[in-house]
Amino acid sequence: MAFEGLADRLQHTFQKIKGKGKVTEADVKEMTREVRLALLEADVNFKVVKDFIKRVKERAVDQEVMASLTPGQQVIKVVKEELTDLMGGEQSKIAVANRPPTVIMMVGLQGAGKTTTTGKLANHLRKKHNRNPLLVAADVYRPAAINQLETLGNQLDMPVFSKGTEASPVDIANEAIAHAKDNHNDYVIIDTAGRLHVDEHLMDELKQIRTNVQPDEIFLVVDAMTGQDAVNVAESFNDQLDVTGVVLTKLDGDTRGGAALSIKAVTDKPIKFAGMGEKLDQLEPFHPDRMASRILG
Ligand code: GDP
Repeated sequence: MAFEGLADRLQHTFQKIKGKGKVTEADVKEMTREVRLALLEADVNFKVVKDFIKRVKERAVDQEVMASLTPGQQVIKVVKEELTDLMGGEQSKIAVANRPPTVIMMVGLQGAGKTTTTGKLANHLRKKHNRNPLLVAADVYRPAAINQLETLGNQLDMPVFSKGTEASPVDIANEAIAHAKDNHNDYVIIDTAGRLHVDEHLMDELKQIRTNVQPDEIFLVVDAMTGQDAVNVAESFNDQLDVTGVVLTKLDGDTRGGAALSIKAVTDKPIKFAGMGEKLDQLEPFHPDRMASRILG
């Protein structure tokens, strides 16, 4: 399970402070030292940890006294609120265009789960929001990616717009939007090409698509299992494309959690969804507060 090590360590740390009727500065110091180590061991970005601990320390030392909680519980509450904030605070909603279709561009490195997430997102929009999405195969470099999206479309019984590998991704995207208008598809989800590494050619192509179709959302799909690499990838994609949100995949695996805990602070972009498995119904809106509760028990 994701966050297992971090959850164990933090819960162990808080066991000691929980019942305390009086929390001294020394207690706070000891607690924050342990939290700091636990976060670093969970592969959270160094600077993110530093800022986080600073905030917790300040708030834990001069907190208001609340009758309903012991001082120990209050310190834990502070950590929980800060963890929630770190992951974005409020749950972030998906955009809706004033005039349909709403266009979502999916970007990310190969293997992160972009194509699978395109299918999952379409499924989510239909099931939870009663929408009628069109999937668009714009990865013209890999016939396998086009086939994969078509297979997903079949499984979901949803239309897939494709023009094989000969057309340009910009033309495909433009034509797909016209097609969606004609066919009353209220969402268009464009599966773009990925690469093994961030490179200039990929970014140029994605920028061209963005300029042409003016998407309502650009979702960056990153693999939570890759930890700080996911954060670095998110930083470069965001610098180049100004993404609107992140989808963190493979949170069902035993990731230590560093990506989930660092991405919002590093990119200032919200995590909108979490991939919780390979199946098409295993995509969940990302709730920072629920995730914090899961970590703190
Ligand atoms: P793409 O190259 O970015 O389009 O990646 P794919 O969509 O082909 O996914 C790569 C692999 O990751 C596939 O085997 C997917 O089934 C798997 N995958 C995608 N999302 C998740 C997830 O949330 N959890 C798990 N366990 N596997 C996932």
